[in-house]
Amino acid sequence: MLRSAFLYLSKQKKLEQLLLRCFLARKLARRFVPGENLADALEAAHSLKQRNTLATLNHLGENVHTLAEASAARDAYLALIEEIARRQLQANISVKLTQLGLDISVPDCLENARRLAQSAERTGNFVRLDMENSAYTDRTLAAIGELRQSGSPVGAVIQAYLYRSENDVRRLLLQGVRIRLCKGAYQEPPSLAFPRKKDVDQNYLRLMRMLLASGIYHGIATHDPRMIEETRRFARQQQLAADSFEFQMIYGVRRDLQDRLVKEGYPLRVYIPFGKEWFPYFMRRLAERPANALFALKAVLR
Ligand SMILES: Cc1cc2nc3c(=O)[nH]c(=O)nc-3n(C[C@H](O)[C@H](O)[C@H](O)COP(=O)(O)OP(=O)(O)OC[C@H]3O[C@@H](n4cnc5c(N)ncnc54)[C@H](O)[C@@H]3O)c2cc1C
Repeated sequence: MLRSAFLYLSKQKKLEQLLLRCFLARKLARRFVPGENLADALEAAHSLKQRNTLATLNHLGENVHTLAEASAARDAYLALIEEIARRQLQANISVKLTQLGLDISVPDCLENARRLAQSAERTGNFVRLDMENSAYTDRTLAAIGELRQSGSPVGAVIQAYLYRSENDVRRLLLQGVRIRLCKGAYQEPPSLAFPRKKDVDQNYLRLMRMLLASGIYHGIATHDPRMIEETRRFARQQQLAADSFEFQMIYGVRRDLQDRLVKEGYPLRVYIPFGKEWFPYFMRRLAERPANALFALKAVLR
């Protein structure tokens, strides 16, 4: 019930406007979103670097309505890529294609993504295209195929809850694409996605084994201790070096586990979202795990 309540709140524009002005809400959100500005995100990436942790930076926002908004998002990412290089941070970027105009014009969106990929290539960086809901899967994978044709350093995300994912993984591996494997964060119908968590987990493990056995450097994105343990076990069994793949987690989630993995010598990348549109993101994190509301509140009171 709490989950639905937080998801409902994430879509309430009036409440968002009200809470954006509210000091306590901002403080609560800080556990998951380090701030609204580029400087806040860079500072968070710098702190992670000091803990031997990699970062991926996401400028919050999706489904923009105008090409001007898409260009502004592209420019924000271009500035971000420059700053990452200038400060020698161990960070790449995570981008949603609907933020670059996918709903408005595919050619313009592709051109924006190409500009980011070129800038990443020039500075030795990497662009991860986040995966959105299933209405965008084909277009996102097609964009990756197109960008990769010119050798751009662009990677994909695969969601284990989708039935199609095993086929997508096979195709992407043939193209040598680096993949982030996650369970999937959107509401999808049973015609497209496993409705039972048990089946999603089973598929996650199957896909994880395909990725690790491929010899390509992939990201295993999860906070689930069982998925992490099985990944470690499979890597040991295959005698893979601990740094032949990376674990990925979200900023503010399971910091204890993050530190433990780093101590054990596994590369860990933390997904850092930042920007003015933090409210829906914050509500989605609370919906995922309502107990996080309590964690965040305790942190503020402390
Ligand atoms: C780096 C990263 C990038 C992602 N990118 C995408 C993307 O592009 N597209 C997309 O659809 N989804 C993305 N996701 C979200 C992902 O699909 C899941 O919705 C999310 O990670 C929750 O699944 P889980 O595997 O962590 O564990 P779940 O199956 O949700 O939970 C299993 C167990 O993990 C632990 N756990 C999970 N969440 C938390 C938490 N918040 N706090 C404490 N413990 C927790 C608990 O022990 C829980 O019982 C991303 C996730 C990460 C980590």
